[in-house]
Amino acid sequence: MTAERERSVVEAVPKGLFIGGNWRDAGGNATLSVEDPSTGTTLCDVADATPDDAIAALDAAAGAQQSWAETAPRERGEILRGVFDLMNERADDLALLMTLEMGKPLAEAKGEVSYAAEFFRWFSEEAVRIDGRWSVNPAGSGRLLTMKHPVGPCLLITPWNFPIAMGTRKIGPAIAAGCTMVVKPAQQTPLSMLLLASLLQEAGLPDGVLNVVTASSASKVSAPLFDDARLRKVSFTGSTPVGKKLMEQASQHLLRMSMELGGNAPYLVFGDADLDHAVDQAVIAKMRNIGESCVAANRFHVHESVADEFASRLAERLGGMKVGRGTDDGVEVGPLIDDDQRSKVAELVDDAVGKGAKVLTGGEKVGDRGYFYAPTVLAGIPDDATLLREEIFGPVAPVKTFSTDREAIDAANDSEFGLVAYVFTRDLQRAIRVMEGLEVGMVGLNRGLVSNPAAPFGGVKESGFGREGGAEGIEEYLYTKYVAVDL
Ligand code: NAD
Repeated sequence: MTAERERSVVEAVPKGLFIGGNWRDAGGNATLSVEDPSTGTTLCDVADATPDDAIAALDAAAGAQQSWAETAPRERGEILRGVFDLMNERADDLALLMTLEMGKPLAEAKGEVSYAAEFFRWFSEEAVRIDGRWSVNPAGSGRLLTMKHPVGPCLLITPWNFPIAMGTRKIGPAIAAGCTMVVKPAQQTPLSMLLLASLLQEAGLPDGVLNVVTASSASKVSAPLFDDARLRKVSFTGSTPVGKKLMEQASQHLLRMSMELGGNAPYLVFGDADLDHAVDQAVIAKMRNIGESCVAANRFHVHESVADEFASRLAERLGGMKVGRGTDDGVEVGPLIDDDQRSKVAELVDDAVGKGAKVLTGGEKVGDRGYFYAPTVLAGIPDDATLLREEIFGPVAPVKTFSTDREAIDAANDSEFGLVAYVFTRDLQRAIRVMEGLEVGMVGLNRGLVSNPAAPFGGVKESGFGREGGAEGIEEYLYTKYVAVDL
């Protein structure tokens, strides 16, 4: 990858706020810097919105709401389908930009662009399937009619770890349902979203339907929107503590909420599992996105009969992974997003090791430039290790043993989170018993990857509520109106 190509891709991105179909500077011309986490250097500056800019974005969204809701579903779907095509045409630029601002290896960034685009194709097909019900009143006289309407202007807040996909799985259903929106991407990774907004504009999305506000202070720009009764919904993907704060703010106008929050995924390997397959899938479940994923396997609970074998094979695989800048050939593990994140990962490892865990591979920072951390496998994890309770969000795999199925299920559920769990067994009855016993929104059965635009993604407990993708995804942006018909 040449430095010139990197520069030209960054230069081509609009750096302003996208409001009412116009690209404009922030009030007061303030800007915020976007960093390359592999070097710690600045890539470029983008507009840093003020609270007034955020209100201007809501003005535009509210102004476009009625005509967008009245736009034919087929037309809304065709626009999404058009952006699906544009994203695939520009996949190389989108992927490179994402790697530069977020750090993930280029091959994974390409994978995210394709996954992200699929949400637009999926919801282009769902736009024309919004329907209602017609039924006979059980008492005989009268009929019951239900119809669906868009909820209205939405605030969509996205995290930095999947800079495009976390956006498209909200923007896709919102557009399909007939909602307008203000999008607030993470301050670390605004460029991917800005380029996506320019593609939506190019595909013919009417002015004001989608507005993008980039800001260094998320709370300052979002607070006035929560105070404004024109906003009808918030869809948030991010950490649980921030999600809880937003729930409080949303109570003021009783906003509809979708909450895609943190995870602490258990990865259960039973004694009868196909160990080769369990190790292959563990590499994906742990290392995809450098471990910075809400569905990353956070703790491996492995039956005592195979735990040593599993841990040593996993250590061999992770220890052999190439760490480096995501744009370099063959790199499988990029940098963490920033120094804070890397310090948090290092603290969790040090805590476990200090309490008796054994390092099978890794366990240290890599290099003196950027925010790299070595792929790490830890065995002999003590019960009080903090990384069993907290989301690691890094390339660290703690392996713990269990003896009975009951113990495995109890260990899996021993968390305030409930996003996803992975189960590896060849015994069908055990698989069903375990799946039914898990307190999670999603299960990967003999699979280390569950994400799929055609499936409902989401959690229970403190991992949040609401579903993104699948037939359920569009429902988050619709409300049901019931009409009692006299007859
Ligand atoms: P974060 O909560 O710090 O930030 C997420 C977004 O919220 C960012 O855009 C940020 O600017 C904004 N934000 C932060 N404080 C805010 C406030 N007071 N008001 C309004 N907006 C605010 O999370 P992060 O570090 O960007 O992302 C990592 C977290 O996201 C992890 O916990 C991860 O599990 C979670 N996540 C969940 C899913 C899911 O689908 N469940 C998917 C991806 C990431």
